[in-house]
Amino acid sequence: MAQFRNFKMVDYVVYGRGSFNQLDEILAPHRKNEAPMIFLIDHFFEGKPLLNRVPLRGKDKIVFADVTFEPKTKQVDALVQQLKDEFGMIGGVIGIGGGSAMDMSKAVSLMMTNPGSSADYQGWDLVKNPGVYKAGIPTLSGTGAEVSRTTVLTGPTRKLGMNSDFTPFDQIVLDPELPKNAPVNQRFYTGMDCYIHCIESLQGTYLNEFSKSYGEKALQICQHIFLEKDIWDDDCDNKLMMASYAGGMSIAYSQVGVAHAVSYGLSYLLGTKHGIGNCIVMNHLHEYYPEGVDEFKRMVDKNKIEIPVGICKGLTDEQFDIMINVSLGMKPLWENALGPDWEKIITREKLRALYEKL
Ligand code: NAD
Ligand code: ZN
Repeated sequence: MAQFRNFKMVDYVVYGRGSFNQLDEILAPHRKNEAPMIFLIDHFFEGKPLLNRVPLRGKDKIVFADVTFEPKTKQVDALVQQLKDEFGMIGGVIGIGGGSAMDMSKAVSLMMTNPGSSADYQGWDLVKNPGVYKAGIPTLSGTGAEVSRTTVLTGPTRKLGMNSDFTPFDQIVLDPELPKNAPVNQRFYTGMDCYIHCIESLQGTYLNEFSKSYGEKALQICQHIFLEKDIWDDDCDNKLMMASYAGGMSIAYSQVGVAHAVSYGLSYLLGTKHGIGNCIVMNHLHEYYPEGVDEFKRMVDKNKIEIPVGICKGLTDEQFDIMINVSLGMKPLWENALGPDWEKIITREKLRALYEKL
């Protein structure tokens, strides 16, 4: 008998410009005792007016998330220890920021109630206990981290998510006013994460109608925003936030593919950030996604973005091997991209040649 994935989704979703203002009301029923709500906020917002709108009550606290680098297991563990030392237990974590702050807040919520280090839970379905209440409020659109069942962390031996049914947020607040002041380049890179999710999902062997329905819509929005619009306006933010959501839903029931598998190697070895890393790789994937890559290049040109080149220049054989190992370790991604015989198609030599081009 076929086995279909029965996956857990986000419990509550609110969407709308200014919906951030409903946060106090949304959190009220979850304030069960004295335990404080922790607002884990992207450090970009330090000193910004958004802070005055955070509905602090009782012992609630704002903690800034340093997202200079992508989240690390060590960073999550330290934050959890700090919160345990200060409060014993907390009532919930409210993550506000880009994909990095989303992931950090999901991980902190889980680690408040699960023993050991977050590195112990990198993998699939290793998390034992539900975390504390967690809400996610994205301020960049594209990663889909607001809907996913994972939180991507760089640990001592790997970059891998804590994938589990306990990982999705209890609540998300989708307020398209929040990304308003994001820098053009950042908005593009994170937006392209969504575009690439769509191409990888729609061209993958895991595709089904569930994924296709969401993926096609998200793709259409990305095409509209990045190819047809001449100026960035509020409507772009309104739409891209829903594309991110739909793109995330699309991969929830399928998988990402070659661009992500290769880009994980870059970020593990060189610390290349997710959005830009995917773009660097996508630029060279014509063999795998011919139409998607042509269209991606048109988007890059139209939006006048420079994609870095030559980032693997001068690396040693050992370093190439590290990236190849990380990449080939992403088995479901390759299987989705190339089918069950993927190991015959993407050899170490082929992957090395691809990394050398980047
Ligand atoms: P990010 O969260 O790393 O943030 C990028 C930069 O933008 C940071 O400097 C941040 O301070 C800044 N920033 C955030 N919001 C801003 C705003 N409104 N205005 C101005 N600056 C702002 O970038 P991202 O692309 O959103 O997320 C990438 C991360 O998401 C990676 O760590 C990646 O691993 C993770 N990710 C997770 C999933 C998942 O399913 N969990 C999926 C894809 C990516
Ligand atoms: Zn991605």
